[in-house]
Amino acid sequence: MNRLLFFHFAPFLLKGKGFIREQFFASCRRNSYRNKNNVFIISGEGLTQQNDILKIVVMKTDHIRMSLPTKAVAAHRRPVFRPSQSAFAAELRGAARAWLDARHDHQYANVTTMLKVAAMAGVAVLFYLAALSATRGYAYIGLYAGFAVTAVLLAANSLHDASHGAFFRSRGLNAAMMRVTAVALGIEPAYWQVRHVRYHHPNANIEHIDLDTAANRFLRQTPFQPWFPQFRFQHLYWPVIAGLSMPYIGLVYDWSDRFGLTPLARDRVLRGFGGWLRFIASKLAHFFLCLALPLWLVAPSVGYGAVIGGYVLGQLLASCLLVTLILGTHWADTQFYDISDGAPLPHTREEHAFLTCCDWEASPRIMGGLLGGLNLHLTHHLFPHFHHRHYPALAKIVGQVAARHGLPYRCLSYRELLRAQQHFLESMGQKPVTSHV
Ligand SMILES: [Zn+2]
Repeated sequence: MNRLLFFHFAPFLLKGKGFIREQFFASCRRNSYRNKNNVFIISGEGLTQQNDILKIVVMKTDHIRMSLPTKAVAAHRRPVFRPSQSAFAAELRGAARAWLDARHDHQYANVTTMLKVAAMAGVAVLFYLAALSATRGYAYIGLYAGFAVTAVLLAANSLHDASHGAFFRSRGLNAAMMRVTAVALGIEPAYWQVRHVRYHHPNANIEHIDLDTAANRFLRQTPFQPWFPQFRFQHLYWPVIAGLSMPYIGLVYDWSDRFGLTPLARDRVLRGFGGWLRFIASKLAHFFLCLALPLWLVAPSVGYGAVIGGYVLGQLLASCLLVTLILGTHWADTQFYDISDGAPLPHTREEHAFLTCCDWEASPRIMGGLLGGLNLHLTHHLFPHFHHRHYPALAKIVGQVAARHGLPYRCLSYRELLRAQQHFLESMGQKPVTSHV
């Protein structure tokens, strides 16, 4: 049936029994998979189909609330925060700028942090070369896993800052650093940057827009997402999903973004022949460095299974380490929002960061330096354009200014963060009273 005709008939179909209504909703879901330009939103306010030029309100469905797969294009890319300005934000920015000025400092990386990145890169290269000279399978696996874990810590200390334009002043140097450091991880940095900076940062924990919490069959991360029986056990198996996250980005998200099957299609990242060239070159560089070269040089002595096993273990460990350290910051007693109805959020952008994120204290403190300051995650969301070397001082400023404005600044211990994360996953894993399925 013609799609427009289908939607014109929809109100009449919906007057029927629940069975017909369910069939109609199932069709909506299938359509949202089939056509990336169409969005179907069903919320307490209404059912709409949207694309760039077309918006048809089909009918009111006040009694139905439903969340659709986030493969559909997010209709409201930019949530409206009310009010758009706040005294808290102005004071916070002023205090941070005054702190920098008093030290005659700037917001980017300094010599010390550049040396830290160089040292981490050196350790990663040493692990890699040692792996290439291994003569036994278990030695290769251990050394390659060491390389992968060091590479992901290197990325946390360089790629992440560079994605926010906070490492170098130069945009080109930031882009170059991202491309080089992403090779060992196997992810396309240009797509990751857009997902992280444009979709996650300003829209944390907002359904359909924050792609980091997109609905899927593995983890239920918000109260608006469909429930499946396996979610009862998600508080037990989440480390496996954390381990698979980075390979999933490299193998599924990147290629889906490349072929325009995701919301990033409208962002026009890596355009034209040059874009394809950079994308393919990065994927080939990862394949050559992490699999082809070791298979050629080392596999005859350590075995092909050891080389492939080392690669898989390295990817899983690196991914699990990174995800484990940051994911809970958006789950620990935080709020979630669904703005499918187009209503503005009742708080400011900065308050949104407080409601959807927290800091946690690294102990010993050197661990915070190794993690690229990712533990101070709320502070990072408030100051994404500052290099992470400033986060400890900025976190103190955030705490002081927040107290003056009555905002709850939270800095948990890692034990508290994990406990809150487990509680969150357990509560999201229980079957909702009214299922969204
Ligand atoms: Zn960030």
